[in-house]
Amino acid sequence: MKFAERISQVKPSTTMVMAAKAKEMMARGISVTDFGLGEPDFRSPDVASEAAILAIQQGKTKYTPPSGTSALKEAIVAKLKRDNGLVYSTKEVIVSCGAKHTLYNIAQVLFEKGDEVIVPAPYWVSYPDQILLNDATPVIVQTKEEERFLLSPEVLRKALTPRTKAVILNYPCNPTGATYSKSALEGLAEVLLGRAVWVVSDEIYEKFIYDGAEHTSIASLGVEMRQKTILVNGVSKAYSMTGWRIGYAAGPEAVIRAMDTVQSQSTSNPASISQEAARAALLHGETHTQKMVCEFEQRREMMVNRLNRIKGISCPKPAGAFYLFPNVMGLYCKRYKEHQIKSAADFASFLLEEEAVLVIPGEPFGGEGHIRLSYATPRDILSAGLDKIEKAVLKLSH
Ligand SMILES: *Cc1c(COP(=O)(O)O)cnc(C)c1O
Repeated sequence: MKFAERISQVKPSTTMVMAAKAKEMMARGISVTDFGLGEPDFRSPDVASEAAILAIQQGKTKYTPPSGTSALKEAIVAKLKRDNGLVYSTKEVIVSCGAKHTLYNIAQVLFEKGDEVIVPAPYWVSYPDQILLNDATPVIVQTKEEERFLLSPEVLRKALTPRTKAVILNYPCNPTGATYSKSALEGLAEVLLGRAVWVVSDEIYEKFIYDGAEHTSIASLGVEMRQKTILVNGVSKAYSMTGWRIGYAAGPEAVIRAMDTVQSQSTSNPASISQEAARAALLHGETHTQKMVCEFEQRREMMVNRLNRIKGISCPKPAGAFYLFPNVMGLYCKRYKEHQIKSAADFASFLLEEEAVLVIPGEPFGGEGHIRLSYATPRDILSAGLDKIEKAVLKLSH
């Protein structure tokens, strides 16, 4: 029997294929060092867990409004004011089952056949597929490593057409760690002002910014940018709460209302218990976040230094998130046994098969020539993994 056409457009995430291979090796008793993790290796804050337990004990285990409780929306409104200097009302906020779900609902509400959606590459793997699942066309715009993987105003201007419906920005970025300064965002905003184009601003890594830099939301750059922007964030990364599934969006009331309609006919509310936990994290979880950020900053330093000592790998220090995106093209054409390195994917397979190290090749992110390494893993494991990468690279020769 026939499936809907749209399903033939999308693919399961490639990172899953690598993970499956690693799992199979582990089942055979091989210890795999995993640099693939996309979530912090910290516990969720105790305040969040305690709030969840209390919610259960108090019987807050029933339906909530589909768009989330007012108590959580008020905490989100307070957070946006406190951290981003943005003033929203609770009617301009919606809570979903994780930021991925928030992004999907945005795609449902905004995109249709004939629409183009600009996605700067390297990108988070779900954007193009979510656009395709909603019958629109992803327009992938390549950024350059020399320009720190940032979209420039000129490149954005050239990518715009009368069909452009939206631009998806993700800063700090998964996989590159790149982030936009306020003035870089102003440059992009200048191109967008006066045009009927939405900005979907995925700020899920907002807290993971290093070297004393500050996060600016593009929505904070004036009245028109606020009207065009749908800001996406959540508690998964900032509070190490990936399993709780709480994400949210803030934007113009009409968009939020439309998302509410979609949500009320599809998932209904995110788990009531998770909403209580997310509220506690947003209100009282800041010290927990700061501890993680401090640890991540030190891991980043250690990883970048060691990677740059490996011949054939070059790793600029990313400004944010918890990933490194080193260039491995210096290893191309090298070989060992049956392995010949012609792509980042070849290098990733080589590392996995020879030294049991799991890294994610850049191709599925639109970042050929690079691999993604997460440092959301304890330092001793990272260090042992780097030893293995060094050892593997030494095996390669022309
Ligand atoms: C992790 C991630 C998300 C989604 O996180 P949720 O767990 O669904 O809240 C969204 N965008 C990017 C870039 C991410 O890395």
